[in-house]
Amino acid sequence: MTPEQQQQFRESFPILQRQVHDKPLIYLDNAATTQKPEAVLRAVEDYYRETNSNVHRGVHHLSQLATEAYEQARKTVQQFLNTRHPHEIVFTRGTTEAINLVAHGFGKSILQEGDEIICSIMEHHSNIVPWQLAGAGQSPNIRVIPMHENGEFDMEAYERLFSGKTKIVAVTQASNVLGTITPLKEIIRIAHSHGVPVLVDGAQGVKSCITDVQELDCDFYCFSGHKIYAPMGIGVLYGKEKMLEALPPYQGGGDMIRHVGFDRTTFNDLPFKFEAGTPNVAGAIGLQAALEFVRLYGHENLIKYESELTAYATQKLMQEDRIRIIGNAPEKAAVVSFLMEPHHPTDVGTLIDFMGIAVRTGHHCCQPLMDSLGIPGTVRASFAAYNTFEEVDRLVESLRTARKMLG
Ligand code: PMP
Repeated sequence: MTPEQQQQFRESFPILQRQVHDKPLIYLDNAATTQKPEAVLRAVEDYYRETNSNVHRGVHHLSQLATEAYEQARKTVQQFLNTRHPHEIVFTRGTTEAINLVAHGFGKSILQEGDEIICSIMEHHSNIVPWQLAGAGQSPNIRVIPMHENGEFDMEAYERLFSGKTKIVAVTQASNVLGTITPLKEIIRIAHSHGVPVLVDGAQGVKSCITDVQELDCDFYCFSGHKIYAPMGIGVLYGKEKMLEALPPYQGGGDMIRHVGFDRTTFNDLPFKFEAGTPNVAGAIGLQAALEFVRLYGHENLIKYESELTAYATQKLMQEDRIRIIGNAPEKAAVVSFLMEPHHPTDVGTLIDFMGIAVRTGHHCCQPLMDSLGIPGTVRASFAAYNTFEEVDRLVESLRTARKMLG
């Protein structure tokens, strides 16, 4: 991106004009959620002003327009992930619901007592707890891919985790704490050589990686719209047709049925089998607008700029006294976790908030990872393409001020 394009990109986000504690907002909490550009805000508002109606069941004009817009959004996601069919895209509330949907289905129809699943030490709670809840009786045994000190997967240890009881590998595309981008192609190749399917948690990877699900050959891929400039409350589950066909419905209700009787109900085709009740139509339209906005600037260009920003932040933080970066994998998403020793991350985050800087502190929903590192949490700065190099400088200055205040 040229500096002019970057500025234009930034100016598309109205919230970045606001002040916090009488200081210009410096928003570095993009791994938690990204801000929304004007194009997304407008798409959602226009939908409610001009088209609002319920989908799939109406013969009237507005209902048909809303249905077309909703199904067009599905096609946009299909193109974005390069899935074979649009019906392999299921709209959900987000990554969490998508993983719960798959884990529930596995629990009902596949997992037996004593079965195993493989996930990694750096998984978010939403890729651990749904698997613990799955299964009729005892939850499946979770076998954990360990990591090297720099935050990369230990691939040799991964290969040794497979047994005849392994039913699925569920791994993240990028760690929301360490930033590590995981070697998905290799992970998937190895799992498939054991006849085991793979679910990818794309919550962090979706913005930081170009994802082609057919090239990856993953069996499931989940992401949340709000992590890539779309509204909250809309997300995606991609599943290979035959995998989705094999799973039972997650929730019952309208739209997911073909025929209901008190003694027997038959279910609708994909993807509607998994979309019970009135969907978030405005959210899907907002997601489409967000993906089109990304395409306008070129997803590769945005990723490249974010990488430069992340490298700059890492280098600046490393020059500071007693700042320890947590996670040094060679390939990273736009996330920098660190400790300002000897201070607690919450104290640091609270102080720099008063300087207008929004970072996240704590365990970031990755308690097993924190336990393995022996730390209570980190300070996490995470970037989007609207952030600037000056904002990184301001972050570093604010940390110096915070250190003086903390003594
Ligand atoms: N996985 C990862 C790696 C995440 O970072 C997050 C969000 N912090 C989630 C899953 C859950 O996403 P959501 O809350 O949008 O469902």
